[in-house]
Amino acid sequence: MKNYKMWIGGQWVESASGKTYTDVNPATEEVIARLPLGGVEDVDRAVEAARKAFPIWSRKSPKERSAILNRIAASVNEGIEDLAQSEILDHGSPIPVAHVFAQMVVQHFKYAALVGESVTAEGVIKHHNNTMAYFQREPIGVCACITPWNFPLMVSAKIAAALAAGNTCVLKPPSICALPALKLAEILSQHDLPPGAVNVVTGPGNTVGEALASHRHVGMVAFTGSHDTGATIMAAASRTVKRLFMELGGKNPFIVLQDANVDAAVGKAAFASFFNSGMVCACPGRYYIHESVYDEFVSRFVAAAKTLVVGDPTDPKTQMGPVISAEHRAKVERYIQIGIKEGATLVLGGKRPVDPPLDKGYFVMPTVFADVTQNMTIAKEEIFGPVACFMRFSSEDDVIEQANDNEYGLSASVWTRNIAKARKFANALEAGTVWVNEHMGDLDFGLPWGGFKQSGYGKENDIMGQEEYTQVKVVSLTMPE
Ligand code: NDP
Repeated sequence: MKNYKMWIGGQWVESASGKTYTDVNPATEEVIARLPLGGVEDVDRAVEAARKAFPIWSRKSPKERSAILNRIAASVNEGIEDLAQSEILDHGSPIPVAHVFAQMVVQHFKYAALVGESVTAEGVIKHHNNTMAYFQREPIGVCACITPWNFPLMVSAKIAAALAAGNTCVLKPPSICALPALKLAEILSQHDLPPGAVNVVTGPGNTVGEALASHRHVGMVAFTGSHDTGATIMAAASRTVKRLFMELGGKNPFIVLQDANVDAAVGKAAFASFFNSGMVCACPGRYYIHESVYDEFVSRFVAAAKTLVVGDPTDPKTQMGPVISAEHRAKVERYIQIGIKEGATLVLGGKRPVDPPLDKGYFVMPTVFADVTQNMTIAKEEIFGPVACFMRFSSEDDVIEQANDNEYGLSASVWTRNIAKARKFANALEAGTVWVNEHMGDLDFGLPWGGFKQSGYGKENDIMGQEEYTQVKVVSLTMPE
C-alpha cells in the first residue's frame, strides 16, 4: 500500500485534520492506497491558493498559456504508461481501455492549447461615429472541477479548458478513484504553472464537494456525475449564484429500424453496452429494435456478449473488468433483480462469477434482458453496469415517443439506410447528441458534448466547451471630445 498526499498551492500536503482513508483495487479488493481525507479547511486552503495564482496565470497571454499546455501534453505523452497504470490499478480498466483514456488526456491538453489561443479574442460589435463597442471573453476565476469515478482521467477535459481560458482550478476527484487525478497532478507539478493554478483535494463529496460548491470565492463549478448530486450542487451553488456546468446521467436509446445494417448495429451495440463495464454515461440504456429484426438482433447480440473476455484487467486479453466498488455492484445487481421481478426475460448473465480468480473483485457478468417494456424500472433508470435491455417496436412514430419519454436526454442513436428517416429521427429525438449508424464511436474533441433535459446543460469539448470557462465583457468606448 502506498501513501499519497494532496496537491495544494504547489505543494504535496496532508489533510489539515491529519485524517486519511484507504482505497481498494476493484479487481482484487486489495487496499492499494492511503489518501488524505480532505475537509472544509483544505478546500479553503486550495481555493485561497487558486485565488492567489489567478492574477498571475490570467495575465499571461493566450499564446504563453497555450505553449505551457502543449508542453504538458508532451509530458503526459511521455508518462502515458504510468497514467494508464493508475487507471488499471484504481479503476480496474482493461489495458487497452486505460490507454485510450490516457491518450485522451494528451488530446485534451493539445486541443485546449490550440483553441485557447483564439477563444479570448475580442470582437467588434458596433462602430458608430466616435463610439466603438466590442466584447472580450475573460476567465471566470477559480473553477471547481468535481468529477466521477467512471472516467477518472477525463478530468483533464475540464482542467485543460479552464486553464486555457486563464482560470485556475481546484479539482475534487472521486474519493474511491483518486489516483489517476493525483498522477496527472504529478505531471502538472513539473511544469511552470504558478503554484496554486491547479490544486487537488481528495475526500468525499458531501464535505469537500459541498464546500467547493458553496464557497464564496469559487466562480464556477464544472461537474460531471449523477443527476442527484448535480441537483445538490446546484442548490449549494445557488446561494452565491455561481456559473454551473452540468454533465449528468443518461438512459440513451439505441433504435434499430427495419432497414438497418444489422451486422454493423450488433457489432457496435455489443461494444457500447459493455465498454468500461457499462459504466458510461452514453452507453445504450435502452434498445428499441424493429420487430422484423428483433429476434435475429437479440440472438446475435447475445452470441457476441458470450465471447467477451471478462477478467483480470492486467491481462492483455481482457476486454471487460470489474465495476468500481462493492456498493456499485450491489446497485447493479438490485436492478437485475428488479428486471426479473417485473417480468423481463433474463437471456444472459445476471450473476457475478464465483470461480477463482474472479471470486475476488467486483465483477458482474455481461447481462441481457429481452421482452423489456417501456414501463419497467430497467427501461427507465440508469443502471450504469453491463446490462442490456431489449424492447421491440412496430411503429416509428411510437418509438420516437417512447425514446423521448424519459427524464434524461444525453444521447441517442438511430440505425437506418434511409437518409430521410435518419433526418426525421435526428430532428425528433430529445438528446444532446444523436448518432446515425453509430453509437459512442465518434466522441471527437472537436464535437461539443452535453445533454438535454435532466442530463444537464453546457457543453464539453470544441470551442463551445472552451467558452463555458469564460465570461463575456462588453466594452463601449467613446472617444474623448
Ligand atoms: P456521483 O454524482 O456520485 O459523484 C460525482 C462526484 O461528485 C464525485 O467526485 C463525488 O464525490 C462528488 N459528490 C458527491 N456528493 C456530492 C455533494 N453533495 N456535493 C458535491 N460533490 C459531491 O457520480 P458517480 O461518481 O457515481 O458517477 C456516475 C454518474 O456520472 C452517472 O450518473 C453518469 O451518467 C454520470 N456521468 C455523466 C457523464 C456525462 O458526460 N454526462 C460522463 C460520465 C459520468 P465522492 O464520490 O468522493 O463522494
